Amino acid sequence: MTASEVQRSSSRTESSALPATGPGFAHGKAPQGRILRPSAKVLPEHARGHNRSLVLQTLYREGSRSRADIARETGLTRVTISALVAELIADGLVVELGQREETRPGKPATLLDLDRSAFVIVGLDLSEHSTFSGALLDLDGAISARAEVALAGSTGQDAVDKVIALAAELVDRATAPILGIGVGSPGVVDLGGVVLSAPNLGWNGMPLQSILNDRFGVPVVVANDANAAVLAEHSFGAADSDAMLIKIGHGVGAGLLLGGTPLFGSRFAAGEIGHVVVGTDGGEVCACGKRGCLETWLSIPNLIERLDGVQPADAREREAVLREAGERLGIALAPVVGALDLSEVILSGPTELLDGPLAAATVETLRARTMAEFHGSLTLRMTTLGQDIVLRGAAVMVLSGQLGVS
Ligand SMILES: [Zn+2]
Repeated sequence: MTASEVQRSSSRTESSALPATGPGFAHGKAPQGRILRPSAKVLPEHARGHNRSLVLQTLYREGSRSRADIARETGLTRVTISALVAELIADGLVVELGQREETRPGKPATLLDLDRSAFVIVGLDLSEHSTFSGALLDLDGAISARAEVALAGSTGQDAVDKVIALAAELVDRATAPILGIGVGSPGVVDLGGVVLSAPNLGWNGMPLQSILNDRFGVPVVVANDANAAVLAEHSFGAADSDAMLIKIGHGVGAGLLLGGTPLFGSRFAAGEIGHVVVGTDGGEVCACGKRGCLETWLSIPNLIERLDGVQPADAREREAVLREAGERLGIALAPVVGALDLSEVILSGPTELLDGPLAAATVETLRARTMAEFHGSLTLRMTTLGQDIVLRGAAVMVLSGQLGVS
């Protein structure tokens, strides 16, 4: 057990029959699929959970497999697979679909699949400025119900009460057992789901994960919204194993995956690039007190304010504002792309503002400031997951934490 798992398991009661396999990301390695890499070596005492995750991951990504297929694809023995499958069927996670039509003589194989509607996941997105939104998701990340609650300036305990009310509404509407609750929160969140700092919500050291766990008695994972978003891109989008997702909204934050492993940083603030000062030419005063933070150009309220300052008919001036924001983003990202050799940068936020001159200027700046030979093929694109990216990322956190699949 890793230190973070010890921390997690002591910080909550595990009421689910399903064993947690890791702190918000998968604890197994499969030969196929887009699994997140384990951060530690698999020890013998973890082998059973690891093998269980291998079977689940194979079915999750490939679907409809026989026991013999799974044995071949995972490299585990037929005996091990039969025992694990029996256990997973008893848990209601795996179902037998029937027999495969065989052209060969002999007994036809029985096909298995993950029962994708056996459980639901409650996903919450707290990252929007005026609204908390939530959804019920199936194991494939498809949304079956939605709910939202107006924030109306709530902070502190009032904001926590709204999170609880939103989760309660969705829990009440669930028509299958709940696998867990995943939450994407703004701010800096540690691996135990404590929101260390979220200034807009007035949260400092708010133990949101344990509050929700105590209230609902199901596994809960709380993480930073951009970190959740990059997991959604990895599992349900097309993100590479070395990718950075920049989430641009009321603030600017980023989620990082390196070699398929989420990066949290020494103080859980990896990806917090919004208050990095870009350039040595001053700039506007930021809410944090510094001058020339990336957010002063790029956050959506600041970007809209700058655009409001130009004549609506002046297309060139408008483009110049967007290009400058994109260039500042490129300046902030170039050393990160260079140091980490990222292959992909993904933008999440309002397409009408980001996708165009802004993104083009970011790419040009990145190419001009990094090594063409290695970073010239870097791609920058908008997310394909739209506004549901945090909700779906919250589901990935529950899936990887509870089942070891991603
Ligand atoms: Zn700042």
